[in-house]
Amino acid sequence: MDRGHAARGYRIQVFSALLAVSTVLALPAVAQVAPPPASPKTANASARPKLVVLLVVDQMRADYVEKFREHWTGGLKRMIDEGAWFRDVAYPYAATETCVGHSTISTGAFPSTHGMVANSWWDRDAQKLMTCTADPKAQNVAYGGATVKGGDSAWRMAVPAFAEELKFQAGDATRVVTFSLKARASVTMAGHKADAAVWFDPAAGSWTTSSAYPVAAFLEEYAKSHPVKNDYGKTWGLLLPPSAYLYDEKATGAVAPEGWDLSFPHPLRGNVTGSEPDAAFYDEWQSSPFADTYLTRLAKTAVDQLGLGRRDGTDFLAVSYSSVDYVGHAFGPRSREIQDILFRLDKDLADLFSHLDQKVGRGNYVVAFSADHGVVPVPEDMQKTGADAGVLHLPEVQEHIEKALEPFNFGKPAVARVTGSDVFFAAGVYEKLQGDAKAMSAVLDAIRTVPGVEGVYRAEEVADRPATQNPLRRAMALSYFPGRSGDLLIVPKAYWLMDGTPLGQGRHYGTGHGTPWGYDQRVPLFLMGFGIQRGEYFASATPADIAPTLAALCGITLAPRDGRILAEAFFRPSVSAKQRTTASATAISTKP
Ligand SMILES: [Zn+2]
Repeated sequence: MDRGHAARGYRIQVFSALLAVSTVLALPAVAQVAPPPASPKTANASARPKLVVLLVVDQMRADYVEKFREHWTGGLKRMIDEGAWFRDVAYPYAATETCVGHSTISTGAFPSTHGMVANSWWDRDAQKLMTCTADPKAQNVAYGGATVKGGDSAWRMAVPAFAEELKFQAGDATRVVTFSLKARASVTMAGHKADAAVWFDPAAGSWTTSSAYPVAAFLEEYAKSHPVKNDYGKTWGLLLPPSAYLYDEKATGAVAPEGWDLSFPHPLRGNVTGSEPDAAFYDEWQSSPFADTYLTRLAKTAVDQLGLGRRDGTDFLAVSYSSVDYVGHAFGPRSREIQDILFRLDKDLADLFSHLDQKVGRGNYVVAFSADHGVVPVPEDMQKTGADAGVLHLPEVQEHIEKALEPFNFGKPAVARVTGSDVFFAAGVYEKLQGDAKAMSAVLDAIRTVPGVEGVYRAEEVADRPATQNPLRRAMALSYFPGRSGDLLIVPKAYWLMDGTPLGQGRHYGTGHGTPWGYDQRVPLFLMGFGIQRGEYFASATPADIAPTLAALCGITLAPRDGRILAEAFFRPSVSAKQRTTASATAISTKP
C-alpha cells in the first residue's frame, strides 16, 4: 500500500469512527464544532436565557429554505450557520391555518387539545361564523387615536400559552410582548394575558390591541410618530438582479392585490385613481416587505423601551411576520414576489439579531423560528405539469348535500355552513342523520362525487383520537375538537384548492392552504442562541415541540403532552468534551 493510499484509508477510518460515536450518542455529525463564543455576561453565568424570541413567518414552506438560501446573507443565513436546523418538520394535523398553527407553536399542543381548530368556525350557539379570537366581552383599542371595531382575546384557547406559563412559573419579572399584522397570531402567541399584544387593523390603518391586554405607553407614542401611511407612495421593486430569481416575471394563475400588476414593480398607491391612503393602500402595504420592516422596528423599540432581556427573569418577545402569507395567497409559492420578500425578510432579521446582540448580548437570548403552515401551488400553475390539480368548490358540496337529502324529508336548508373542510348542519339535522343510515350514506356519496374530494369523515370517526394507521384519518383526528369542529370533515385531493367563492364568480386570490398534504404541513424550524447546539437535525419534529423545548430551556413545565422536548439540540458541554476525547482515542486506536 503506498503512503497516499494509507493516509486516505486512515482518514476514512477516523471519519467512520467519528460517525459511529455520533450515532451512539445520538448527536448530529457536526456536534464536534464548538459553539460561537459567548459574550462576557452570558450563558454559563446564568441558568436561563434572558430573553425568549419567537419568530413565525406566516405561510413559509420548509422548502423555501433549500430553494432560496443561496442568496441569503442576513438573519435567515445566520440561523442556518449558527442555529439548530430541523430538516424534517411538519404539522401532523389537517387544519393547517394561521390561528391553528400559531396556537400549536404557542401552547405545544395540537388543535384537538388547544381547541383553536380554524381561523373561524360555525358557532352552533350563536348560529354564526365566529373568528377564533372573537370575544364578546373584549373591546378592541387602537393605538394612536383611531377608532376600531370588534373585540379579540385568547379566551377560546383551551390551554395556556408558553409565555403565560413562563410568567406564572418563573416569576412576575417576565414581560410578554407580541406583534403581528393579524390578531389571530399576536393574541395566540401571547395567550390570555400579556404586557402587550399588538396587531394591525387595515380598516382603520392602525395598530390595535384589546381590553384583554394593557395599552403600552411607548407604543402609543411610536404609533403616533410613525404612522403606517408614511409608507404611502413607496414602491416595492426587485432587490436582486433578475437572474437571481427562479421563476417567471408573472406567476401563472396569480391574482394581484387591487392597484398592482402581475409583475414588478409594485407601487403602494392604493386604488389607481386615488391620491391618498385608502383601503387598497393598506392591503398593498400588508402584502409588501414594508410591513415586515415595520414589525421589526416595533420589536426593536420594545427591546429598547422596556429593556427586554436586561432585567432579572426571562422576557418573551414574539413577532409573526404576516406578509409572506398575503403575498403567497396572491402570487403563489412559485413567484418572484415570494422569493423577493424572503430576501428582504433575511435583511430585517439580520437587523433584529444585531440589535439583540447589542442590547441583550449574543448568547443571552434564544430564538425559535418556524411557520404556521405552508401553501399549495396555484392550481392553474400545477396543471401545467399534467398533474391532477384543480379547485374544490365548497358551495358545490353544499348543493350536492341539499339535493341528496331531498327524498328523505329533511328541512331546507339542511346545511348551516361549509367552511374550509368542515360541514356544519342546521340544528338537529346531524343527529337525525345519525339515526338514518340511508340518508347518511346518500349524503356521504353525494360529497364524494364533488370534483376534488379525496374522502369524507363523520365526526364520530375522528373524535377522541382513535388509534389508526391511516395518516389522513389521524390528521383529521388531531384537528378535531368536540363542539367546534364540523359534523362532516372533507379531505381534498392533493393539489386541489378548497375554495368558498360563490359559484359563477372568479376567485379573488391565487391559492391557499388548510389541508393534510405535505405542502401545507411542512415548515421550517430553527433554534438559535442560549443553550442551543448548532447543527442539522434529521429526527422528525413538529412545531408543537417548540413550546416544550423553550420551557425546558427556561426551567418550567407545560401541562399538555403533544409536543416533545428537542433535547438533541441542547448544548451539552460535558458530553461534547467527552465525545471529543472518545473520538480522538478511537482515532488513535484505529491508526494503521
Ligand atoms: Zn397563516
